[in-house]
Amino acid sequence: MDDPFNHEWTEKALDAIKAGTLHRRLIVHGGKVLAARVDGDCPRCEHPLRPFSLPLIGVLSEGGVLGRKASLAGSTYRIDVQCGCKHTHPRAPRDVTGCGIWFQVELKVGRDD
Ligand SMILES: [Zn+2]
Ligand SMILES: [Zn+2]
Repeated sequence: MDDPFNHEWTEKALDAIKAGTLHRRLIVHGGKVLAARVDGDCPRCEHPLRPFSLPLIGVLSEGGVLGRKASLAGSTYRIDVQCGCKHTHPRAPRDVTGCGIWFQVELKVGRDD
């Protein structure tokens, strides 16, 4: 339970997305995926996450390298998100904000944009 990289957090994050307490969104403009954004509540400590946004240009996806090509409907992206809530957690590693967990969020063109 105390492993910040435990796959359990990814499963919990998916539950939170289904429950509507965590939100994922792809920013698409001009047929290209520009960024992924995740906000909502941390699946572990349930504090609000600092809105997390990751530029996706040039990131490898299942469809290949993006950037110049128009993105294809159905392309999926997996991004790693760390809890960045503003609360202090006594048991979190010292050099991180939030409770320190990492989880993976999958985003899909056509579903999350
Ligand atoms: Zn947290
Ligand atoms: Zn927290």
